Amino acid sequence: MMNDEREPDMKFAKRMERLGTETAFEVLARAKALETQGKNIIHLEIGEPDFTTPRFVVEAAIDSLKRGRTHYTPASGIPPLREAIVRDVERRRGVKVKPSQVVVTPGAKPIMFFCILALVDDGEEVIYPNPGFPIYESVINFVGGKAVPLPLQESKDFRFDIKDLQSLVTDRTRMIIINTPQNPTGGILTREDIRAIAEIARRRKIWVLSDEMYKNIIFDAEHHSMLSEPGMPEQTILLDGFSKTFSMTGWRLGFGVMPELLAERVTQLMINSNSCTSTFTQDAGVAALDGPTEEVNAMVAEFKKRRDLVVAELNKIKNVSCIMPHGAFYVFPNVSKVPMGARELANHLLNEAGVAVLSGTAFGKYGEGYLRLSYANSVENLLEGIRRMKRVIEAL
Ligand code: PLP
Repeated sequence: MMNDEREPDMKFAKRMERLGTETAFEVLARAKALETQGKNIIHLEIGEPDFTTPRFVVEAAIDSLKRGRTHYTPASGIPPLREAIVRDVERRRGVKVKPSQVVVTPGAKPIMFFCILALVDDGEEVIYPNPGFPIYESVINFVGGKAVPLPLQESKDFRFDIKDLQSLVTDRTRMIIINTPQNPTGGILTREDIRAIAEIARRRKIWVLSDEMYKNIIFDAEHHSMLSEPGMPEQTILLDGFSKTFSMTGWRLGFGVMPELLAERVTQLMINSNSCTSTFTQDAGVAALDGPTEEVNAMVAEFKKRRDLVVAELNKIKNVSCIMPHGAFYVFPNVSKVPMGARELANHLLNEAGVAVLSGTAFGKYGEGYLRLSYANSVENLLEGIRRMKRVIEAL
């Protein structure tokens, strides 16, 4: 148990010992502290687009506030937004769902939290990608489930071996979590991968939590959704949101699409925790989904340009190699030949080079030997950051 000098007698519930965190926020805090001491820091740690929210989305929120839309909404979200989500799911995934299957939440993280909370009993197993978004493992452990890591392999373009998945499935497997395009590697799952997972899930009646947060940020590849697989809408939770696609991280707007009975339980969890998602934010969400796509397209094109540049520059650093990611806005360079562990190297780069990056281990044990860089930063800063990394790494 952590000893806190401020309140030595403070006692927390036992379950808090099982709750993890997201290192990105801690590294950001350390980087900011160095900045207040006058150090110049290049931020490559943050998982949010550096673009502003499209103007028409901002206007929709302002208009909503001016119209007095400042009160509670239904806990599962306003009907126009749930209907807009239904249209978007049909447009993007070719699947017909009903508004009663949609739950709107403040950001997409609550969908993860609520669905795992609602479905996973003590000791039940959840298979999750590793390296992967750290909140999966944290929440599985928190609710008393058993977190079973599924290794992603660089040699497979940061996908997993279907045989590994088969070998991890047991009678106690309750859920498989997938994420495509993926944080932290930028990898994507192919149609064959999705089909193979669906086949296992259907046969063994296992839930699939399909995290498709980055589905719009994808380059020279196609997005395949678990929801499009026959029979899978009955046992899939689609997780998506507005944070990345529309540069709306601070607005807190996300959603899940799931079978009706589960949607009712998740709504009950919303009633018990948030009551509802902010009203004017939801109004802005309708505008975002139904509005013009030029700004999102321009952002994705810019990310692609930066991806190409960052990968080329990282591969010029001695002992560093980086494969080409297909989506999201992260690269996951291999630094296993650098004579320093990934965590130590990330610290060293922050302190000695003024470059904030994350250790691959922040995303699980199979992240050892890697760093995660976000290229949600200007070309100028990206080039400067990598130049600093090269200087410090090649001096080791
Ligand atoms: N899923 C993945 C893979 C993410 O990277 C993130 C955010 O970093 C989320 C879900 C949650 O996003 P939000 O809660 O901002 O909607």
